[in-house]
Amino acid sequence: MRHVAVIGSGPAGYYSAEALQKEFGEDVRVDVIDRLPVPYGLIRFGVAPDHQSIKAVAKRYEKVALSGNVRFVGNVMVGRDISIPELLDLYDAVILATGAPNDRPLDIPGSDLPGVVGSAAFVGWYNGHPEFADLDPPLDCEAVAVVGNGNVALDVARILAKTPAEFVGSDIVAHAFEALGNAKIRTIHLLGRRGPHQIAMTPKELGELGHLEAAVPKVDLADFPDELDDVLLEPGMRKSVGHLRSFAAMSHDKPKIIDFDFFAAPVAIEGNGKVERVIVERTHLTKDLRSEGTGETYSIDCGLVVSCIGYKTPPIDGIPYEHGRGRFANDEGFIAPGLYCVGWARRGPTGTIGTNRPDGYEVAEKLAAELKGGSSDKPGRPGLDALLAARGVDIVTFRDWQKIEAAETARARLGSPREKFTAIEDMLNARGG
Ligand code: NAP
Repeated sequence: MRHVAVIGSGPAGYYSAEALQKEFGEDVRVDVIDRLPVPYGLIRFGVAPDHQSIKAVAKRYEKVALSGNVRFVGNVMVGRDISIPELLDLYDAVILATGAPNDRPLDIPGSDLPGVVGSAAFVGWYNGHPEFADLDPPLDCEAVAVVGNGNVALDVARILAKTPAEFVGSDIVAHAFEALGNAKIRTIHLLGRRGPHQIAMTPKELGELGHLEAAVPKVDLADFPDELDDVLLEPGMRKSVGHLRSFAAMSHDKPKIIDFDFFAAPVAIEGNGKVERVIVERTHLTKDLRSEGTGETYSIDCGLVVSCIGYKTPPIDGIPYEHGRGRFANDEGFIAPGLYCVGWARRGPTGTIGTNRPDGYEVAEKLAAELKGGSSDKPGRPGLDALLAARGVDIVTFRDWQKIEAAETARARLGSPREKFTAIEDMLNARGG
């Protein structure tokens, strides 16, 4: 028997647990540990609430979680309740699947003004993450600047643009549903520091912007390279750029505009005690397709700036870390004997949910090479339980989570699959007696 601890219950964590089951069969016990009382990480707190079909992958993780040799251990914070060296003493291997929940900072003057928020905070707010439930972003302004040209910037722009009716079927949390319904926003500026051929937006997500009830996307064809150059793009990107070009023909007869501002790098944020405007520098592309400032600046009035410029894995004391890439220093998932990382903690914040699957399988194979055959003298689960009980840690099991989930389903507003609890205390109380 082998004992493995997986830290983090998001996609990378559950794909690893699934892979370990396939690799070791009945000869492994996997504990999936999460700092929150609820599982699924990015699926619950990152994927947009109006993208329920993507969230449905949680059913696959549930199957893994309910199998005999995998256990969910929620409400346990590594670094507070237990350390990595302690886990390495208890288990044959520890896999870090901690994701990349921290914002990359928008490091420009004024970025600390009230009204400047990172996407982790903003997305966490509308998805009910306990850490960001009280964010209360200023939505009583006419214009918002969303910085970045990736899928997260698209998610944020779309959520800001939608009407209450367009949230039917979503699990956007009540506080965000209400606040967005009362918002005064008319213009959403999407600031990309490079051009239409350098966006990091996928076609399906970009196409959605063309079908919004009260908002229309707007582009300036003067920002685009010659249309013939589109054939040089890989097919997905060509499709995305095709959507962008089609936006140019749309009439702006709806109350809100999503304005694509290309070759626009924010260089400062100004305002008297809060955000009032973003100073943007015009850019052009260098030969190697990087953005370079031209020295020409202009200003965009806005009351909220959401910076969607990527994420970082939180470092853990004693674990080697690559600051530039915001991830653990690793060699294809290997950190040290018995210590591995997967998903965004391994690769940095790129790729779709499914991209995490091969990571888990690769690490399971490596672990099999390291561990298969012999048997363990590690305490595993009983050891963890004894240590956490001695420290008074209130563990949440998968059965407990199912009770929390049932309570969230029961209190959902009409047309919504669930109304998430946003306070840890409420999640714990929902387990019942
Ligand atoms: P991303 O795809 O890496 O995009 C980050 C964007 O921020 C890029 O446009 C980048 O521009 C820009 N940027 C970075 N630093 C900047 C700065 N200092 N000033 C201005 N702009 C800056 O990251 P993401 O949008 O956070 O998404 C993370 C991952 O999750 C991606 O793989 C994404 O596809 C995935 N995701 C998928 C979905 C979906 O499938 N529905 C939804 C959300 C997220 P440059 O290109 O010039 O660096």
